[in-house]
Amino acid sequence: MNMLEQLTHRDRVFEFLAPQASPVDVRHGPILYLEDVNVSFDGFRAINNLNLTIDDGELRCIIGPNGAGKTTMMDIITGKTRPDSGSVWFGSRHNLLTKSEPDIASLGIGRKFQKPTVFEALTIFENLELAMAADKRVFPSLRARMTGEIRDRIEEVLTMIGLEELRHSPAGILAHGQKQWLEIGMLLMQRPRLLLVDEPVAGMTEQEMERTAELLTGLAGKQSVVVVEHDMGFVRSIARKVTVLHQGSVLAEGTMDQVSSDPKVIEVYLGEGA
Ligand code: ADP
Ligand code: MG
Repeated sequence: MNMLEQLTHRDRVFEFLAPQASPVDVRHGPILYLEDVNVSFDGFRAINNLNLTIDDGELRCIIGPNGAGKTTMMDIITGKTRPDSGSVWFGSRHNLLTKSEPDIASLGIGRKFQKPTVFEALTIFENLELAMAADKRVFPSLRARMTGEIRDRIEEVLTMIGLEELRHSPAGILAHGQKQWLEIGMLLMQRPRLLLVDEPVAGMTEQEMERTAELLTGLAGKQSVVVVEHDMGFVRSIARKVTVLHQGSVLAEGTMDQVSSDPKVIEVYLGEGA
């Protein structure tokens, strides 16, 4: 093959111009590993010797009272906040404390904030397409070439989020729950290895919550998912393993039944009537 052929051969071009981020090595350990992490804000310890391990493909729920440090923990994993001390590793290869926020995102850590940020004037399909284009690994002039590949992924994601019928409707007409799913879909376009989701069912109807539970449990195994959530019923419906945070540390860890019958947990969290 001459140079031109080589450059125009789709797979090769993709490989050449968009090298996959150095793969996440989970052969000898977890996908996410936090050890003795500490963060203080003006002398207040928001995160206090936090240790947390997430296995590849796991779906983990994190619960805890307001101010426990849940959002700060996500800020640390995604590079938004730098801890004062400790270690944070993505697989055994990537030390996240040496990486910027965009680098962490392109290594395959996607984060969904509470408030959906979909483009209301664009269709659902276009929102998903844009999420892919926003991936800086995809070289813009190659987009035409990769249309087929992107289309396939859009169709796959539309099915996962249950919005296939609405693909050509503007996102502005979606109900609150559907917008949340679309945003999860936008994150899924880039096939993250680890998805962090902050309070996905806040403001959802019972039915929307059920559908969200299906969506998130359906991702487990393919992606690792960490869900921060206040709604106990929801956590009970999806959780395999639950971590309870309190004052920036892990207070308890186990099944929902184990943690919800733990006297320490009842005292600080369930006791609050949350
Ligand atoms: P959660 O998400 O569990 O409710 P947060 O992680 O938001 O808890 O907050 C943990 C603690 O750290 C809270 O007491 C909060 O007020 C404090 N905190 C979080 N971010 C900052 C910040 N940027 N500056 C000062 N204090 C902060
Ligand atoms: Mg929070």
